[in-house]
Amino acid sequence: MSRPRLTDRILAARVQRTLQGRERQRRTVTRRDGVRYEVDGRWLTNFSGNDYLGLAQHFAVVDALQSAAGRDGAGSGASHLVCGHHAAHEALEKEIADWLGAPRALLFGSGYLANLAVLQGLLGEDDVCVQDRLNHASLIDAARLSGCKLRRYPHNDAEGALRQLRTVPDGAAIVATDGVFSMDGDVAPLRELSLVAKVQHALLYVDDAHGIGVVGAEGRGCAVDAGLAPGDVLQLATLGKALGGYGACVVGSEDIIGHLAETARPYIYTTALPPAQAAATLAAVKLARRDHWRREKLQNLIGHFRQNAQFRGLQLLPSTTPIQPLMCGEEKRALALTTALEAQGFWVPAIRPPTVPDGKARLRITLSSLHTQAEVDALVDALSWARDAVEMGYGNAGASGAAVA
Ligand SMILES: *Cc1c(COP(=O)(O)O)cnc(C)c1O
Repeated sequence: MSRPRLTDRILAARVQRTLQGRERQRRTVTRRDGVRYEVDGRWLTNFSGNDYLGLAQHFAVVDALQSAAGRDGAGSGASHLVCGHHAAHEALEKEIADWLGAPRALLFGSGYLANLAVLQGLLGEDDVCVQDRLNHASLIDAARLSGCKLRRYPHNDAEGALRQLRTVPDGAAIVATDGVFSMDGDVAPLRELSLVAKVQHALLYVDDAHGIGVVGAEGRGCAVDAGLAPGDVLQLATLGKALGGYGACVVGSEDIIGHLAETARPYIYTTALPPAQAAATLAAVKLARRDHWRREKLQNLIGHFRQNAQFRGLQLLPSTTPIQPLMCGEEKRALALTTALEAQGFWVPAIRPPTVPDGKARLRITLSSLHTQAEVDALVDALSWARDAVEMGYGNAGASGAAVA
């Protein structure tokens, strides 16, 4: 048997994706003003971003970035353990630990890297990681990198988590879950999962990429909102979503965080975040803690959107967060809806397999405190128009190339 040629295999895979209508294209944003995005020469109202509190372009955040860059430069120049650790990193770690009421926080280049570091740094091949079926891809990849046994339980099923833990009675264990599920918008049953973890002497790890800044009083996220004590949970806060910047922070006990800082390969062998980025995020955290009105406005918009959408018979998942998916079933239908919405001036990319399970394509609609009620009303009008238009055949004749995510 001869070895397959890698380039042939890649070409075949690309052709197949194209034939199945599953190719993925990027759209280039040329200008942005809050939720208004200029794409391919046209201004669209964006309902797909994760800038839930409208902090990415806040003047105080941008000002902090600019003045820190003027002082410290564009990059950190090295990893944290060599000479890249800066006072701006230190200040941000302290602020986030204080915010979440935990002993210590550790900065990472991104949420993806942080998840790799946590599971690779804490688990080995004799250990087990029990995960929700709908967890973010980075948690799954992280468990694989660690070499541990990976067991998955049905979505939000704490008893299922307990059953899976019992199948591997030896070795250390982590129960890992998204706080707010990134594609569904619902919240994990953290109290129950915390009890399960306690009974099984496991560590509970909550990836709260979409909860931090948004959920609970002061935006402290799902774990604090569920009443978990800081000692009961290890948490991931990402800095690129509600905080409008880039990077991530793992928050937990002195021992666990110290251990990760000294041993986790995805922490040690990578360049530290630019200090200016840390300074910008520090300004964003202060705004997120202080500006309760952003969360209140967001909650009002969420309630308004759901009421209006349900009145029009649009099928939403049960979600109280800014992630409000509209289920479409077939990918083709999701793509046609996206195209119809773009024709009306709205940007809501279709989310398709493998990001979501087969047959569960959706429009992942997200709300931001920057949206106005009038924009939300206009979106609901456009959604119900698009639904009816697609029913009548709009967008079926190859129009989908216009708007693929
Ligand atoms: C976005 C996301 C990540 C990855 O974070 P980045 O900082 O974008 O790498 C991890 N987990 C969840 C649940 C996410 O939604």
